[in-house]
Amino acid sequence: MIIVTLVVVLAMGGGGFAWFVVAETDDLATQTAAAEELLATSEGKVTEQSTRAGLSAQIAEARSVLDESVLTRLTTGTGDARESLEAATDAVEASMVEFARGRVTEARDSLAAAQARAEKIYQATEGQGVDDAVRARLQAALDTMAAADTAADTTLSSEDLAELARAADELGTNRSVVTVATEALSDAQDAITCPAPDQAWDPDSGKVPSSALAEIPWAPTHFVRADVLPGLIELDAAYREAFGEHLTINSSYRTYESQASLYDPSSPIAAPPGCSNHGLGLAVDIGGGVETFDTEQYTWLKQNAETYGWTHPDFAEPGGRVPEPWHWESVLARAGL
Ligand SMILES: [Zn+2]
Repeated sequence: MIIVTLVVVLAMGGGGFAWFVVAETDDLATQTAAAEELLATSEGKVTEQSTRAGLSAQIAEARSVLDESVLTRLTTGTGDARESLEAATDAVEASMVEFARGRVTEARDSLAAAQARAEKIYQATEGQGVDDAVRARLQAALDTMAAADTAADTTLSSEDLAELARAADELGTNRSVVTVATEALSDAQDAITCPAPDQAWDPDSGKVPSSALAEIPWAPTHFVRADVLPGLIELDAAYREAFGEHLTINSSYRTYESQASLYDPSSPIAAPPGCSNHGLGLAVDIGGGVETFDTEQYTWLKQNAETYGWTHPDFAEPGGRVPEPWHWESVLARAGL
């Protein structure tokens, strides 16, 4: 009687255990399927590629456990496989959150650059005759962008992937709107300020910080943008070899105010402020014979200046809009036109 009872209890107990193993196997199968989906969706969306490799290995491990006979699983169980798979899944999910946060941070950084340019142009166009509506549109775009940026800052602490992705996308959209509004304002200013097609309004014109300018060594009251000075020095050295004297520099970088005082709307000689390459530190006016077409000095410069990154622009050529033999520019001056 005792033996019979024991058998019955063992049988019942064993049945319960078998049921538990089946349920546990279902859990592992479900978990594995979810992990496989995560492996697929996480492609290109993690910061640590090794987490996906780890997940892939744990999925293979889980699959091999699931392929084992029920009897084997009865003795070994699936607990280890489930725990390892869960840890690998967590690692991928954490890496995906990090990746999504990185996208938001990147979007915020690129927003900052667009914002800086927009604000510079907004300020530079104040009181310059541009339609107020065009400026108001940029201001509105900047306000909307600032709000999105503040919201994104809060979202950064979220672990919700969809929310993070939405924040990054929204920042990108806002940046585009600000960029378009900035270009519209810049074009509007250009249209009313720079009458000639070879001129381009630039918010930096006449406002180059002194740290970005460099003194011309043989003409110390004159400055050009620091990055174009080495070419000018080399050009001068070659010129000196040919003519025994330095290039005569009569004009170089001009501040916004000095360009404004030179500008005479009834004469094409000086460009309106904001439209001159002198204001960018990329132009010099040269004398010592160069101020006349077809002199030896002018001809020499025409033949040699480009070797050193300097050129005589089309508008100043004989027959150009303003024939100015003396006006020379860095080749960089026309890069943006
Ligand atoms: Zn000039």
